[in-house]
Amino acid sequence: MKLRRIMSAIAAGGLVVLAMASPVAAFAPPYLDEPTGPYVLPVDANVPKRGCTTTLSDPKNASGSTPAIQVIYAWHDGGGNNYETHVEQIAKLVDRMDLELDDSTNYDQHLKLSCRTGYDTGTYSGYARALVVPEKIEAGVIGGETTVDKITDDLGAAGYDNANRKYVVFEDFNGTATAWCTTTCAATADEWSSATQLHELIHLGADSFYVDHPKVTEAVDHLSYPDVMSNPRYDWQLDHDFNNYYDPSETTATFYTGNEAADTRKVNVAAWPYFTAPTCCDIGYSNDLLTAQERTVEADAPYATPTGFSVSGGGWIQVTPPGPTSQISAKHYDGRRSLTMSVQSHAVGVVSVTRRPAVTAGQTYRFFAKMTTATSGNVKLRLSWYNSSNTLISSSEGPAIALTGTWTEYRHSATAPAGATGVQISVVSPAGQTFAYQLDSLQLNHCNNGKTADGCRLDTWQ
Ligand SMILES: [Zn+2]
Repeated sequence: MKLRRIMSAIAAGGLVVLAMASPVAAFAPPYLDEPTGPYVLPVDANVPKRGCTTTLSDPKNASGSTPAIQVIYAWHDGGGNNYETHVEQIAKLVDRMDLELDDSTNYDQHLKLSCRTGYDTGTYSGYARALVVPEKIEAGVIGGETTVDKITDDLGAAGYDNANRKYVVFEDFNGTATAWCTTTCAATADEWSSATQLHELIHLGADSFYVDHPKVTEAVDHLSYPDVMSNPRYDWQLDHDFNNYYDPSETTATFYTGNEAADTRKVNVAAWPYFTAPTCCDIGYSNDLLTAQERTVEADAPYATPTGFSVSGGGWIQVTPPGPTSQISAKHYDGRRSLTMSVQSHAVGVVSVTRRPAVTAGQTYRFFAKMTTATSGNVKLRLSWYNSSNTLISSSEGPAIALTGTWTEYRHSATAPAGATGVQISVVSPAGQTFAYQLDSLQLNHCNNGKTADGCRLDTWQ
């Protein structure tokens, strides 16, 4: 038997979703406030009904069915069976989980949900009852916490142990927000918010049960941008850089999730068969026009010339060789490397992503890059606009950036001029300097989400 667990409760940095401690007889699942970051989602009444991907006469017999999520309402004798009280709210929370997945990016992607026959799914009440199956946890602890292993054991004994099902369990008792696999894989929570349940579900998809949450999100040793894997109480978007665990634009790309140097597990949750295949393009919070290689320099060995990048003028580039951990990558232990530019003083040095992603004239684009240096020096971010004949039209440079010893994300936005069909992104070092800097975690947003101030993802939080 494969036994794995997630240790939500030992995550560092206040990322823990703790179990409620409440008198059992009076326990009712708190409907927590829904997350509002990076922007407020529609109220429940306006959240689309996800609907059933597949419908079974017996939800315990899913052999031969497409991989899908089975939603469970779990209860025990301590608080009794309140299925009728909660079933429609549970369905709304699942619909909101689906909306969060879809609206995280400009890719259309959804949960695959398993339903049961016998209900009129044309009505919301019927849909909710087809979607959510009640299950009594016989071994539930009265007067204490029912741990997740008791949930998965009970589900398995009841027949909810299909290899092509993941179980999302809403606990109507003192339980735990976590994820756990025996032969039954379950994401559970006794505090009911859509982002908490999506967080736990993604643990199952990421197969990263031991992961320290900041490692699977934006953190690096120094940066931490909230998302559903780092702050599920308040944030709902997934990996907004497409470079840590979720990249719907390139499902063949995979990303290290471990927090140990020897941990070589790689995932891309966007390719998880419990989600529909992502399709471009709709409007979502985040998008990116680069390839995984252009974002992370991941395919190249130390000392090599970074694939997909080019350099001109004063300087030369290589994949960062062995050295201080703080320079090897913007993420420690992720198995990737940064790019090192060794700036020479005789001319302006220009490091570019060689490829020129397509743009639309009149639309705004934002170039993000994380950079650091062990010494000191100045650089600028540049967007160069090209027409369909590959002729340079104009370029837009941001202000001079004095790099520091800390990985920091910098950004520059500009609007594509008339006639522009492609853009080249570059980091420019003015002449007269001799120093080296590291470049990593590049991103090129098309500012189209329509929800944040300028339509691009936020570059910093709060
Ligand atoms: Zn977690």
